[in-house]
Amino acid sequence: MAGLLEGKSALITGGGGGIGRATALAFAREGARVAVADAAQAAAQQTVALVNDAGGQAMSLSGDVTDPDAVQAMVKAVVAAYGRLDCAFNNAGIAGYQVDAGGKRTHEWPDASVDRMLAVNLKGVWLCMKHELVQMLAQAGGVIVNTGSIAGLIGLPTSSAYVAAKHGVLGFTKTAALEYAQDNIRVNAVCPGYIETKMTEDTMRRRGTELMQKVPFGRMGRPEEIAEMVLFLSCDRSSYISGACYNVDGGYMAI
Ligand code: NDP
Repeated sequence: MAGLLEGKSALITGGGGGIGRATALAFAREGARVAVADAAQAAAQQTVALVNDAGGQAMSLSGDVTDPDAVQAMVKAVVAAYGRLDCAFNNAGIAGYQVDAGGKRTHEWPDASVDRMLAVNLKGVWLCMKHELVQMLAQAGGVIVNTGSIAGLIGLPTSSAYVAAKHGVLGFTKTAALEYAQDNIRVNAVCPGYIETKMTEDTMRRRGTELMQKVPFGRMGRPEEIAEMVLFLSCDRSSYISGACYNVDGGYMAI
């Protein structure tokens, strides 16, 4: 039986670990040729090695999503290698502690931390969408999935600019879905809850027990559980879905 993404080409940002890596593996399993991009190319190369070991096809790209030239080059490299860009997963992101804002309330966030958070988690998604959309318009179709978060739906104390950025990602997602609906381009978002990745290691060490009490499933999600939603939203099985934001959160948002 043909895979769900047989013959498709895909670009995944933040593919060097966590959710991006799991998605690269899921896409390749379903027949896609995958370009794995990450700020750290070595991490992207490790993902590519895992894809290849599993019998899939992938290439690695380096590129900071805050750098317009790098983002444009990333999209061009995918098209040069694979001929087109069918699926894009805009997933690269950082947490508050990575910009020196861990545990800080809104007024305590340093200016530079807010700037960097918005540059990576919000403008970085827009920059990727911009160049992906140009290519998808030229080839008359495509699918984009952005990584939102439950933090894109509610407030979370001490995550101020992260929450703002993720709300913004959902805004970009819904607006682009409307703007490109007549161009055969679908745009959706996945909103993960607490997922076992490098990003959450520190928080879980400090507050894991308390946080898990708020999750109806009583456990964290696995990156593979997000990847399956991204796969669904990227393949033809979701052909009538656009502008949607799907929670994959162990029931968190139902409370
Ligand atoms: P990871 O830290 O494992 O993955 C994030 C990846 O993005 C890393 O490989 C990181 O590279 C890369 N990255 C960071 N900054 C940039 C940049 N400027 N340009 C290109 N790549 C960059 O965490 P997750 O897999 O958990 O995160 C993936 C996405 O999921 C993020 O958008 C995050 O906000 C979101 N998310 C995660 C949740 C969770 O509980 N884990 C919950 C909800 C949403 P490097 O390692 O070099 O920094």
